[in-house]
Amino acid sequence: MTSSDEVEVEPAGAFAGDPDGLDRLWTPHRMVYIGGQDKPADDAPGDGCPFCRIPALPDEQGLVVHRGAVAYVVMNLYPYNSGHLLVCPYRHVADYTDLTEAEVAEVAALTRTAMRVVRDVMAPQGFNLGMNQGQVAGAGIQAHLHQHVVPRWGGDANFLPVVARTRALPALLGDTRAALAAAWPATPEV
Ligand SMILES: [Zn+2]
Repeated sequence: MTSSDEVEVEPAGAFAGDPDGLDRLWTPHRMVYIGGQDKPADDAPGDGCPFCRIPALPDEQGLVVHRGAVAYVVMNLYPYNSGHLLVCPYRHVADYTDLTEAEVAEVAALTRTAMRVVRDVMAPQGFNLGMNQGQVAGAGIQAHLHQHVVPRWGGDANFLPVVARTRALPALLGDTRAALAAAWPATPEV
């Protein structure tokens, strides 16, 4: 990786998302894979948990799109699609039933605002929303709850993931983060 001295390289575990087996066609952020697709070693809060660590980083470095009072919005480093966002409580909580009323309300509100912002910026035709609760249900980082907001376009689920275990992602994460953050409303929406 000849450009590693020009760009600050973060290990994959420093970013948000659920590592998967897919390779991706864009290259700059592939550098983070050099450190391995390291999931947290355990379920403990703190530096071992990407969703605990990210809020302490500058927005650009942590790929943070918006910071709320008790929850925040971040780009998924392992996106299923361009514009794939995660809405996370700051608190290290695994189960949806353990969220406070304030966290439930803000995760929901940020999810709706995320849909509106992604619609404005990227014009998707649909969304997948949801949380994977527990490893058996597909949660890559099960100890810290995160709601997926995945924009969908007709034809986005093409043959590449099946044939080549590769998915074409036309927009770079940093560029998409900047566009979504700029479009985020200044005052909280209801
Ligand atoms: Zn955490």
